[in-house]
Parts: sequence; C-alpha cells; structure tokens
Amino acid sequence: MDLAQFNKLRARSFNEQKSLLKKIAKGQTVLCSKCDQVIQLNVAVKEGEKAYAKCQKGCTYIELDMA
Ligand SMILES: [Zn+2]
Repeated sequence: MDLAQFNKLRARSFNEQKSLLKKIAKGQTVLCSKCDQVIQLNVAVKEGEKAYAKCQKGCTYIELDMA
C-alpha cells in the first residue's frame, strides 16, 4: 500500500472515531460495526492509564486522549 493512501485511510478512521466518541458522550447508543454490541465508554481507569471506549468483544477499541 502506498503511503498517501495509508494516510488517507488513517485520517478517515480517525474522523470516524471522533464522531463515534461524540455520540457516546452525548449519551447515544453506538453499536460496534463488527459485532453489533454496544460500545461503552470506560473512564474509570487508574492514574496514568487512558480512558477508552470499547465494545464487549473488543473488536472496537478507541483510546481517548484526555491529557
Ligand atoms: Zn465489536
């Protein structure tokens, strides 16, 4: 895969993740595109760990940058 295409794909998935997180933050139910399980936000993490949103099966896993 050439680099330009790779960067384009990466930017697109980054934007998808951002809009997904916005929906979750608003309290909307978001389903994983792979397993159709609800994606849940987990902010109860230890110090030094990142908050994350993930589905029950773990095929969707998004780390949140809240530094
Ligand atoms: Zn999933």
